[in-house]
Amino acid sequence: MKRAILSDIHSNLEALQAVLEDIKKQNVDEIFCLGDVVGYGPNPTECVDLVMKMCKVCLLGNHDQGALFDPEGFNGSAEKAIFWTRREIDRPSPRRDERWDFLNILPKRFPDDADGAVYVHGSPRNPLNEYLFPEDIFNPRKLEAQFRLVKRFSFQGHTHVPGVFTDDLKFYAPKDFDGEKELPSEGKFLINVGSVGQPRDFDNRACYVTWQEIGDRRILKYHRVEYDAEKTAKKIFAIRDLDNFLGERLLKGR
Ligand code: ZN
Repeated sequence: MKRAILSDIHSNLEALQAVLEDIKKQNVDEIFCLGDVVGYGPNPTECVDLVMKMCKVCLLGNHDQGALFDPEGFNGSAEKAIFWTRREIDRPSPRRDERWDFLNILPKRFPDDADGAVYVHGSPRNPLNEYLFPEDIFNPRKLEAQFRLVKRFSFQGHTHVPGVFTDDLKFYAPKDFDGEKELPSEGKFLINVGSVGQPRDFDNRACYVTWQEIGDRRILKYHRVEYDAEKTAKKIFAIRDLDNFLGERLLKGR
């Protein structure tokens, strides 16, 4: 079984299309999305439509929830983007109800008991909102509380920073293991799959992972995909309710 896992598309259609093209070459059986399909970017409806069509599982992210309900805890530019997103999804269209219905029933977690895995947007403890940053290795209580809730693997997004936390409280960025790693048959791992539509690890290419089960072996691979970030940024610059900063950061990957 081979699965592509992606997260944090953030209404970036160019990045999502490039990633889906790349996934075609990987011979995967299914695609999972860990949430934040919308928010920040210029093409929410197109991204929702593609995820509906292509992903076997899609989880609720905090920005998806913000578009559905009253946004809480967002900064000014994120909140403005959320209200703009809501109006876009709400625009008269034969697909409007279908899009709202899809967003409305997204789950917050997906357990894959056979694999000892749980899929969330933020963290095992707080699937929607909690951030696990690389520097949390210096906060053992916080990380140990996550590992206690995980059998073997947790897959998450939310920070837009790809990498793997191990239960001896270390963090490995993809470049630390050349992007591909067979995980040991013991131990627990929190795997951040990075972000498709707004990477923040100083690499502006879209990011996703593949996860392959071969018997007892588990192989994790990070993929980086170039896309036309200038095109997406220009669309953002042309929309008054989306701050220019949201386009500029796509060019820098931060
Ligand atoms: Zn996000």
